[in-house]
Amino acid sequence: MSTLNADLHCHSAVSDGTLQPEVLASRAKANGVELWALTDHDEIDGLQRARDAALSIALPYLTGTEISVTFADTTVHIVGLGFDADNAALKAGLVATRGGRRERAMEMADGLAKVGIRDAYDGALKYVGNPELISRTHFARFLVESKVCLDTSEVFRKYLVEGKPGFVPHRWATLRNAVTWITGAGGLAVIAHPARYRFTATEEYALFTEFIAHGGRGVEVVTGSHSTVEALRYAGTALEFGLFASRGSDFHSPDESHVDLGRLPALPVPLTPVWAALESRIQRPA
Ligand code: AMP
Ligand code: MN
Ligand code: MN
Ligand code: MN
Repeated sequence: MSTLNADLHCHSAVSDGTLQPEVLASRAKANGVELWALTDHDEIDGLQRARDAALSIALPYLTGTEISVTFADTTVHIVGLGFDADNAALKAGLVATRGGRRERAMEMADGLAKVGIRDAYDGALKYVGNPELISRTHFARFLVESKVCLDTSEVFRKYLVEGKPGFVPHRWATLRNAVTWITGAGGLAVIAHPARYRFTATEEYALFTEFIAHGGRGVEVVTGSHSTVEALRYAGTALEFGLFASRGSDFHSPDESHVDLGRLPALPVPLTPVWAALESRIQRPA
């Protein structure tokens, strides 16, 4: 069960990935993925295309999204899986979470202009597939194209993280709302890539306990964002808190992502995978 090649975290051009949902489905299938979810940031507009493509190539499929949350003044990502994509409260919540990205992007461009990088807003827009979903990743691609930096990770380090000229603090959804939107739509909420947050032990404990109190039930253990040591550490956290374990590449682009779709280690054996709790939500070809 835990050896299933599930990839339950990736992005299409509907958020900050570079490939279309259909291309991702084919790539997942070719890489041996046996259960797939597209999890665009704060957006589910690509899901119908993802589902149709997956089912047409006999790739079992779950609905997905990755919601941006502000917790303890830090941005935390909550993945939702297996929800009803027609749920009105979830859709309204995602619209509200996306709102403000355009203004934030204009402020980011102002910050970059102050250090001599001009027209970054229009530059980033050239990379945007969805006008409601302009993200830091699109700015990063523009700064690489403009030869300001060699790659996107250098752009983030020098320009797009806290304290740097293109960083604009932003208030996303609350943890309670994000978890409630997902579970209210029949889905399972998962803490994405926990090792990425720079929390103290106390803050991390608060994140997990509040997440569970709101109805959250899963944590990403094996992800493209975790080292082997980090995966083992959060395997321990999953057991400690009684959470289902998830697995996903967080694939964005063939040019930028280190981990391709489905090319991940198996979940450590003692864990119960999220897909054990989502059996009735998995869509398969008729
Ligand atoms: P945003 O939602 O606009 O704040 O953008 C967040 C996205 O930026 C994440 O989902 C990643 O795709 C990307 N990102 C964040 N940090 C880094 C980094 N250090 N290097 C490359 N990409 C990053
Ligand atoms: Mn992203
Ligand atoms: Mn994320
Ligand atoms: Mn992601």
